[in-house]
Amino acid sequence: MSSFIEIKNLCFSYPGDAQNAAVPVLHDINLNIKKGEYVAVLGRNGSGKSTLAKLMNLILLPTSGSVSVNGKLLSEDLSDEECIEVRRNIGMVFQNPDNQLVATVVEEDIAFGPENLGVAPEEIRRRVDEALRIVGMSDFARHSPHQLSGGQKQRIAIAGIIAILPECIVFDESTAMLDPSGRKEVMDTIEELNRNRGITVITITHNMDEAVRADRVVVVDKGRIVKDGTPKQVFSRPEELWSLGLSVPQVTELFDMLRCLGADLPEGITDEEEGAKLLFEFIKNRN
Ligand code: ADP
Repeated sequence: MSSFIEIKNLCFSYPGDAQNAAVPVLHDINLNIKKGEYVAVLGRNGSGKSTLAKLMNLILLPTSGSVSVNGKLLSEDLSDEECIEVRRNIGMVFQNPDNQLVATVVEEDIAFGPENLGVAPEEIRRRVDEALRIVGMSDFARHSPHQLSGGQKQRIAIAGIIAILPECIVFDESTAMLDPSGRKEVMDTIEELNRNRGITVITITHNMDEAVRADRVVVVDKGRIVKDGTPKQVFSRPEELWSLGLSVPQVTELFDMLRCLGADLPEGITDEEEGAKLLFEFIKNRN
């Protein structure tokens, strides 16, 4: 697998003005993301996660260091066509679905992106139908987005991104405003896009249950990457996550507690089913 996003020695400050000094936010970030990866970016509020995401699709440009997407260095020297191509290639789904839906009919909303890119009408029809199918919303094509639940609206926002055929989608706290069932719908959709459609996924989240579904977890603290590994590796030491203002999945915490009480159980259990099986064996062997 080749690197799709390459970030080298990236530093970023929001520029100051007459009243305010510049705000340094990211410090010497090095991160490579391969095509097809599923990466969760974790970190407490204000650690720089959204800023990092905005540097990946030209909403912001580095203060120093570099960001390349698909081998193309992101800079102010890119032509308009090159900028459009980068933005098409890295779709972004944000927190509030209401801010992302523009049309009064679901299928028109999904068609909006490809229409703007000048895609032919029959191809738009095909893409809209396919995108609706992928997010499981085909029956809602003629509905008004206002009639939908939060999770359904967010799936329509995702369909709008899928219709522009990105290689990568960045989800910036995309489940934060949803209730548990909406969150699950969106998490299942994200997983489908990565596992079955080969779309590279970067999901910025506070939610540990969301992070454990990724292949790789990157933890950002005060603008620096402080952990980068599989969910098992990153969650194997709960006290380190707690010291960064983060939590760990409940099953990991339970296992940590039992180990502290002397139980011979493994570290880094993040999967509830696996945890339940191990506990069952543990209790059986003690009797
Ligand atoms: P996170 O996504 O981890 O919550 P952000 O990337 O949104 O963090 O913010 C990182 C830091 O940058 C915070 O201290 C925030 O106040 C600051 N910040 C974010 N946006 C701006 C902006 N437009 N101008 C100045 N500072 C900003």
